[in-house]
Amino acid sequence: MSEMFSMTDVTVCYDNVEAVRNVSLSVEEGQIVTVIGPNGAGKTTLLMAAIGLLASRGRMVFQGGDIGKMSVEDRVERRLCLVPEKRELFSDMSVADNLLLGSYSLRDRSGVQTTLDEVYDRFPRLKERQRQAAGTLSGGERQMLALGRALMAKPKLLMLDEPSLGLAPLIVREIFRTIASLRDLGVSILLVEQNARAALETADYGYVLETGEVVQSGPAKDLIHDPRLITAYLGGH
Ligand code: ATP
Repeated sequence: MSEMFSMTDVTVCYDNVEAVRNVSLSVEEGQIVTVIGPNGAGKTTLLMAAIGLLASRGRMVFQGGDIGKMSVEDRVERRLCLVPEKRELFSDMSVADNLLLGSYSLRDRSGVQTTLDEVYDRFPRLKERQRQAAGTLSGGERQMLALGRALMAKPKLLMLDEPSLGLAPLIVREIFRTIASLRDLGVSILLVEQNARAALETADYGYVLETGEVVQSGPAKDLIHDPRLITAYLGGH
């Protein structure tokens, strides 16, 4: 397995407060890696730094190249992609136009229609609703649209910020099934979640973030049986 993405001793500050402190993690090619942790642990901050929306100290390597000082545009062009927590769809625009916007960073336009067809195959619900305004979709459909739009950029590493947030349990299961199927397509995934159980059931490897620091890490199948994590995050099952 080769390394897709890594952070080494990454620190991110808001004014002088360190929201993320000396975090090191890595995602191997074709892996789903999850970062779990409570509210305010620094999970969103970590992803914002990875995509370049927040400045950070430390080292960040994507596909063998140092991206730590690169602009967001350059990172996106290298096929690093973030689906933010708020999903940030264009409510007044149609499903189809939201999807097409996802491909704007691709220089080569020749494959856009094929990619759109692949996204519609993966999400038949979006195909049915392609002319509907994004703002009229249900919560689950919006998350599917956000995932579909990210896929339009042909990501090598897809970073997802709490894709299960605000969704009913059945829909959460569907979203995580979809995420697992993306790995089967060869997309590497960095998944930030408060829903620790669903995230660990889907992921290959996990990191636990508390107050800005990694306090534990390991194969997801081991973390899910860890007594401390069961008490703290996994609902005691
Ligand atoms: P949640 O799951 O609630 O989104 P999180 O793990 O994603 O939490 P962050 O949103 O990354 O956590 O926040 C980490 C810390 O940084 C928190 O203490 C938060 O209050 C602080 N923080 C976040 N954004 C800012 C900001 N723009 N300015 C100052 N502090 C911030």
